[in-house]
Amino acid sequence: MTLPSTYADRNCSLARALEIVGERWTLLIIRDAFFGVRRFGDFATQLKIPRAVLTNRLKFLVREGVLIRDDDAIKGVEYQLTDKGVGLWPIVRALMSWGDAFYSPAGVQRTERHDQDGGLLNHEGRCEDCGSVVPVPEIRIEPGPGFNPTGSDRDPVSDAINTPRRLLEPIMAVRTLPAGEG
Ligand SMILES: [Zn+2]
Repeated sequence: MTLPSTYADRNCSLARALEIVGERWTLLIIRDAFFGVRRFGDFATQLKIPRAVLTNRLKFLVREGVLIRDDDAIKGVEYQLTDKGVGLWPIVRALMSWGDAFYSPAGVQRTERHDQDGGLLNHEGRCEDCGSVVPVPEIRIEPGPGFNPTGSDRDPVSDAINTPRRLLEPIMAVRTLPAGEG
């Protein structure tokens, strides 16, 4: 549901940004990239997204410089957030907080902490222990009180995401998933 270009052409940076991240699935792909997902097959398993759609979204995000595609002879193809992509974290965390506030009666689904000292992050992304604004690679996410794992679809990647881990740290799950590249 791309906005008509006449709308984006107006002097509005929000419209421009929505051209990139406003489509269904896109922010979910980006969220999983923050959580350490890097491989096509892992995105597909996590999101249960049609593979053709995932292929298109990944290509688009690479073209727009949000993700970089790394063709490694040993590891295979991986997608990683660029600095431009990492700059989307405040949006992802704000939308997650909004979802927690209005759609998660049991509480926060994922808690953010400063990995160095374990301090909780406040709504500004500032550590309540040391007071610093915590850079993305030093943020540790862990299941919060509202987290409710679905036992039916457990897999190594989900298990990795659902245990405390630093953002952007690649998931080194056992590769039992069927290979598939975009
Ligand atoms: Zn701290």
